Amino acid sequence: MTSTAAAAVPAATPRTVLVTGGSKGIGRGIAERMLASGHRVAATYRSGDVPAGVLGVRADVTVPEQVEAAFAEVESALGSVEVLVANAGITRDTLLMRMSDEDWDAVLATNLTGAFRVARRAARPMIRARFGRMVFISSVVGQLGSAGQVNYAASKAGLVGMARSLARELGSRGVTANVLAPGFVETDMTAELGEAAVEKYTAQIPLGRLGAVDDVAAAVEFLASDAAGYVTGALLPVDGGLGMGH
Ligand code: NDP
Repeated sequence: MTSTAAAAVPAATPRTVLVTGGSKGIGRGIAERMLASGHRVAATYRSGDVPAGVLGVRADVTVPEQVEAAFAEVESALGSVEVLVANAGITRDTLLMRMSDEDWDAVLATNLTGAFRVARRAARPMIRARFGRMVFISSVVGQLGSAGQVNYAASKAGLVGMARSLARELGSRGVTANVLAPGFVETDMTAELGEAAVEKYTAQIPLGRLGAVDDVAAAVEFLASDAAGYVTGALLPVDGGLGMGH
């Protein structure tokens, strides 16, 4: 899905941005919006492509060598990564009794360990530059829980503990680490839910609609901006009010 990046304005300070999972959905929308705002943007992909004007680097976040090669490629083409958006994520939904070790491991490996791996790689140049912005794409279900998503919810809740620890470790070096928790956003991931489930969820959302990719991208843009320099360790919901109070 493409975003409506028309509202984006030129960035106050152009940064080098890396988005993981930029081939579609939310990651693609984030890459498009950051590009429209004047940043230098790279995005990882496994299949498909990345938006025109974005540097595409093929990488699977579960493969350490591919992550290392992706960073090296971005650094030589665009400079050190100043804004990291750890977005790559998967689901393997099923009820607990049917959830295999493989279902658990695959989701944790991508959503949590993958985010850890890119954060660790991004940190050193950020510390050296005394500037960095890390944004982790979690989910409302990380706080609410979700039947059939024990693995996914655990991985998304894990990002909060990780980001808050990073905020403490890296704050004195000018590096912020924040978590963004989208609600239901119209992408391939939610297309799998089916119409009846979407209607049921929509009824629970105070704003009465699913989120658009650009709703999330706009919030990422804020967390990456100079204006958000005093925001770290935060969990920002972008969920139409679905998770209020959590
Ligand atoms: P999509 O399935 O549309 O896109 C997922 C992206 O992640 C793709 O670009 C995919 O790349 C990439 N990806 C998956 N596994 C890997 C991997 N091992 N290494 C590198 N890239 C990988 O999902 P969404 O856009 O909907 O979701 C994006 C993020 O937002 C996820 O973290 C998701 O959990 C989160 N989220 C989504 C919500 C929603 O309602 N859609 C709600 C809350 C959170 P490729 O296709 O090339 O494999």
